[in-house]
Amino acid sequence: MSFDLKSIRAAFPILTRQVNGRPLVYLDSAASAQKPEAVIEAMSAAMRGSYANVHRGLHTLANETTTAFENARAATAGLINAPSPDQIVFTKGATEAINLVAAGLGATIRPGDEIVLSVMEHHANIVPWHFLREKYGAVLRWIDVDDAGRLDMAALAAAIGPKTRMVALSAMSNVFGVETPVAEIVALAHAQGVPVLLDGCQHVTHAAVDVQALGVDYYVFSSHKLYGPTGLGVLYGRAERLAALPPYQGGGEMIDIVEQERITYADPPHRFEAGTPPILEAIGFGAALTWLESIDRAGAEAHERALGAYAKERLAAMNGVTVYGGLEARPILAFNLDGAHPHDVAQILDRQGVAVRAGHHCAQPLMKRLGVTATARASFALYNTRDEVDIFIEALAKARKLLS
Ligand code: PMP
Repeated sequence: MSFDLKSIRAAFPILTRQVNGRPLVYLDSAASAQKPEAVIEAMSAAMRGSYANVHRGLHTLANETTTAFENARAATAGLINAPSPDQIVFTKGATEAINLVAAGLGATIRPGDEIVLSVMEHHANIVPWHFLREKYGAVLRWIDVDDAGRLDMAALAAAIGPKTRMVALSAMSNVFGVETPVAEIVALAHAQGVPVLLDGCQHVTHAAVDVQALGVDYYVFSSHKLYGPTGLGVLYGRAERLAALPPYQGGGEMIDIVEQERITYADPPHRFEAGTPPILEAIGFGAALTWLESIDRAGAEAHERALGAYAKERLAAMNGVTVYGGLEARPILAFNLDGAHPHDVAQILDRQGVAVRAGHHCAQPLMKRLGVTATARASFALYNTRDEVDIFIEALAKARKLLS
């Protein structure tokens, strides 16, 4: 099996559409990726032919749907090499997964306990920890990054100590596209008995992930960035961590016994899945994973990095463009046209069919660190082409002319 870009593109119906009279060039997959036909088909086939609520019925449709739902959980465990599907909690997104862990930890936080995070985090991996600061007096210890987007590992080593309750870091920045040295981070934290939560939202889409090899305590990501539907997130946890975590929300399916004066809870993962879960979304995500298994993922990863490197090279050759973060071969590139607002740049690109994101990318501490309020961002997925990079660069040159 080798990476075949033509058949990959053919799997994504949306890629044939026009935007503003031009062929769509979609460079916003870091925000959300497009969906292959297999996902669209699996979700509608379930609704057409095999759908009921999960886990609670004894009838055929309930059993079929429960099997499909639990198969998706098993496939998710397989994707990241989790030891057991019971260590995969389905949430509504990565954001909810981090909130779940933070809320569970919250009950045990004493004033002065510390959470270590970096200035490069997405707000999803900042705000839940701020809640612990506001509610329980936790202290946030911020690790800086250099201009290339590298974590200050000496500062990280110095920050982890007896008061640290969690090290919560992104495994790949959604602004810089830089991978963090995960193995080193885990080793530093575990040497002090501190758990590590990795925000894998961008990482899992661009790299093979093995949570056992990483030794990480929690790993979170969202289905919609990995070609699955929105409304589904994944929390992986080490078995002993999940077993010790209190429930997040209360409702049906997460209990063992409910009496008037007493309640006991189900074991993980169901303890954390109150109410009707995202059934169709899980089935769609299962289909995305089956589709991903049918392609050359290592080839896809190499392709994405080559596109990022080529785009960076072309951007670097342009006058009046600043690219943020200095490492090579990144599938996510934040940039600005000097003297122009990134919103204007994105709008002019859109008129030429090129979709990029502009804003603070839910990373205001990083924007402050960079001394900007916003940037434009081009991000590459396995369906993008070198020709699209050329179209993007031409469109950007046009924007520079119009805005100068
Ligand atoms: N972390 C990172 C690095 C992200 O890129 C995102 C999505 N922009 C999130 C967390 C939050 O994911 P979601 O909105 O799907 O919950």
